[in-house]
Amino acid sequence: MKIRKRNRTSAQRERILELLRSTDTHPTVDWIYAQLKNEFPKLSLGTVYRNVRILVEQGLLQRLPSGSTFDRYDGNVAPHYHVICNRCGRMFDLHIPLDSSLEEKARQMSQFLILGHRVEFYGICTECQSKQNGG
Ligand code: ZN
Ligand code: MN
Repeated sequence: MKIRKRNRTSAQRERILELLRSTDTHPTVDWIYAQLKNEFPKLSLGTVYRNVRILVEQGLLQRLPSGSTFDRYDGNVAPHYHVICNRCGRMFDLHIPLDSSLEEKARQMSQFLILGHRVEFYGICTECQSKQNGG
C-alpha cells in the first residue's frame, strides 16, 4: 500500500515536471492543477504545491516570485531573463546574453559572494499594443 502511494506521488511529480518543461508560459500552481486534475482524480491543489516545492528544492524547477500575484514556475532552470506584460500579465523568455558584469559590480558594492542575478523587464506585449491601437 505504501509503495503504491509513493509510486502515485512520484508519477504526479514527474508529470508536473514534464508539463513545466513542455511550456514556456511560466504557469502558476493553479494552472498546473487544472491541467492534471483529470489525469489524477485524487489530486489536490495542496499536493501540487508540495510537489512543486520539492521540485524547486531539487533544482529541477525555477520559482519566479511575484510580489503581487501568484508565483510562477519555469521548467527551464538555466539562467535567463524575462519580459512581462503589464497589461495581460504574460511572461516571456528573453533571449539576450546574461550580463555577468552586473554580478561583479554587485560584488564590489555589497561585498557579497554573489551567486547569481535575475532581471525582469516589463512593458506592453505586441498583442496588447495592437489592442490598444484599436487593431
Ligand atoms: Zn499583453
Ligand atoms: Mn523562462
